[in-house]
Amino acid sequence: MSARIDEVGNVIGKYASQSGNGPYLMLGSHFDSVIDAGKYDGPLGVITAIDCVARLKEVNKRLPIGLEVVAFGDEEGTRFATALAGSSAITGSFGDAHFNAKDSHGISVEEALKHFGLDPSKVPHAAHSSTDVIGYVEVHIEQGPVLEAESKPVGVVTGIFGQTRAKVTFKGAPNHAGTVPMRLRHDPLLAACEFCLVVERVAKSHSDTVATVGQFLALPGAMNIIPGAVELSIDVRSALDGVRTSCFDEIVASGQSIARKRGVEFDAKKLIDLNACPCSPVLVEKISSAIQSLGERPLLMPSGAGHDGMAMSKLTDIGMIFVRCDRGISHSPEESVKIEDVSVAAEVMYKLICDYAPGEKSVP
Ligand SMILES: [Zn+2]
Repeated sequence: MSARIDEVGNVIGKYASQSGNGPYLMLGSHFDSVIDAGKYDGPLGVITAIDCVARLKEVNKRLPIGLEVVAFGDEEGTRFATALAGSSAITGSFGDAHFNAKDSHGISVEEALKHFGLDPSKVPHAAHSSTDVIGYVEVHIEQGPVLEAESKPVGVVTGIFGQTRAKVTFKGAPNHAGTVPMRLRHDPLLAACEFCLVVERVAKSHSDTVATVGQFLALPGAMNIIPGAVELSIDVRSALDGVRTSCFDEIVASGQSIARKRGVEFDAKKLIDLNACPCSPVLVEKISSAIQSLGERPLLMPSGAGHDGMAMSKLTDIGMIFVRCDRGISHSPEESVKIEDVSVAAEVMYKLICDYAPGEKSVP
């Protein structure tokens, strides 16, 4: 491949087509990680893509389409809290929010790019044209327990969940834990506890939908004080935007009615609201038939986690192949995959790229 570091720090390798030109099918994943990460979240997809090109090169095979292997920088948003930065630059949507984001030492992305030897004013040149790219396919560890439970080495991703995150506050009046009789209390913590169970119930009433309370803070947080306020987070994700929106509305409405019943105040502030990102039906089909040709029955599944594909879908069709991971553990040094499973994923990707017809583009 001819390899380069692009204007925003992604590493890109090009393997030209038979004609020496594009269009290109992009393959890859991200090579940044979270703190205290495992080895496979991201790099597995980059290495699998490189391995497929190496295999072509070994037999001196050129395809009717070109291949572009990309290792995206800053997918996780660990340093700057700006997720999908590298892939956003490739789609031409790297904006001021990305440039101005600062790390915990007050260093902005713009300054960090300069420190690295890049020219921030050239970042727009990292953008690809949609006519040069016919699709983006990523191998990634599942980061969940479904494939293991189904005894499948790989899965076909049908789409990436949309997500809504909000900060919720229940407010009462802090008071003495000994002097206020139970019947006269307006305890925001008990309201919040009831609310958490509603979050669970609402999510469970829909398929391909999950909801989580990940933060829960009682204030002032003393053993002998009835809490005055509780702050908590909700994270609602679903394959269907309509379901996610109605779940969120139902959760908020329940919060209001619980608060009324218990004589406390309720507030929910939306922080993130991202629509679901469907994978291209044609790529889902191609990946499925590649799996089938290996004698496996393809398992179709949504992705609950976000991926570079969310950004890439603004540019082109996306497809994803999930690899089973040990106990579904991810974002941890315990992250682990079986070599045989990775080899199935590599085989599926190799078959997919070898069968790709030139100029083929799936429906939007
Ligand atoms: Zn990842």
